[in-house]
Amino acid sequence: MSGDGSNTSDSALMAVVRAWQVDEVKPVHCPECQTPALEITDQSTRPYREWYALSCPACGFEKTLSIPLGAAVPGAD
Ligand SMILES: [Zn+2]
Repeated sequence: MSGDGSNTSDSALMAVVRAWQVDEVKPVHCPECQTPALEITDQSTRPYREWYALSCPACGFEKTLSIPLGAAVPGAD
């Protein structure tokens, strides 16, 4: 019982977002129902954080994905 009704992991969402970034005109498949109608909105607050809102009009899937920028560079000084 997770409460949000979704079993899609953040890493799966990230793969969806990365694929979308490569080709933004291509339809994106919803990770839940596989309908090629997923809408992705880039709400990033660069240079601090990448922030994406994902929603699917077909099944009601809604999720936000945040990726802290710089997190992969520990102790860079
Ligand atoms: Zn869907």
